[in-house]
Amino acid sequence: MEIAWIGTGIMGAPMARRLIRAGHRLRVFNRTPEKARALVNDGAVLASDAASAANDARTIFIMVPDTADVEAVIGKIQPSLTRGQLVVDMSTVAPEFERRTAEQLAQLGVDYLDAPVSGGETGAIEGTLTIMVGGDEAAFNRARPLLELLGKRITHMGASGAGQTTKLANQIAVALTLEAAAEALLFASKGGLDPGRVLEAIGAGAASSWQLNNLGPKIIAKDYRPGFFVKLIRKDLRLVTEAANQHGIALPGLNLMTSMFNATAALGHDLDGTQALAEALLKLATVE
Ligand code: NAP
Repeated sequence: MEIAWIGTGIMGAPMARRLIRAGHRLRVFNRTPEKARALVNDGAVLASDAASAANDARTIFIMVPDTADVEAVIGKIQPSLTRGQLVVDMSTVAPEFERRTAEQLAQLGVDYLDAPVSGGETGAIEGTLTIMVGGDEAAFNRARPLLELLGKRITHMGASGAGQTTKLANQIAVALTLEAAAEALLFASKGGLDPGRVLEAIGAGAASSWQLNNLGPKIIAKDYRPGFFVKLIRKDLRLVTEAANQHGIALPGLNLMTSMFNATAALGHDLDGTQALAEALLKLATVE
């Protein structure tokens, strides 16, 4: 098998599907096998565990939720890894963990890249993700043709961990622009305006953002179906907080957004999309 894909959730499944449709042979594995089964109809082979998925694959992709999950996958596949294989972790996890893992696998002659993404489920389906890569340049050049099937802007950010640090910086901006969009819409509706018309009026101006234009309509419709889970942005903000504490820097907006997403989760929205943040704001403002 050319490629192994481990973790076929909201993001992993459509990304793996793009590689299959481009003509690559894939062996797939997911902890809950049902989530990988649809890919078999597309031509993938379903592996019974992570190690047998990875066995002999030239490139092994990982797309699971958190640092401990990637650690568990690495623990499973490491005994069967052999010189010359390339592991590409596309999950959003701790930069420090990626640095350690790259060093550990380098001793086996295995290349390791951290390549987290931004762009959500739509970006995964359409192959328009932003991909931020950390690791050895030769390994990056080797991965690039496959990454080009998944994303539009693919940037080598530097040594191992640099991809994750870039992604965490991205998440600070994502969380705060979502807060800005939700506050603007709440303010407009409290002021007696139709928030849909406000969105039309301001969506292409200086306040324009991906969050405003893509999640604004969902906030107005109270459509909280997940593209990106609240529980995952809470995980990302935890990773940012850990790194910010290591650097000893103050990020007051980060602290605010940690509280706001905790409140969103406490209201029962951990498995909803991040736009459910609006519910926490509505509660604070006592607006329906
Ligand atoms: P998800 O839907 O929860 O998918 C993760 C998948 O990984 C699940 O199907 C899970 O299996 C599987 N998994 C967990 N541990 C595993 C293991 N040890 N072995 C095999 N499979 C395992 O999450 P997602 O939205 O695809 O996110 C994946 C990563 O991408 C996260 O790090 C997230 O922060 C990042 N990301 C997400 C988005 C987005 O919009 N969703 C955007 C950018 C980046 P189970 O079904 O058994 O739980």
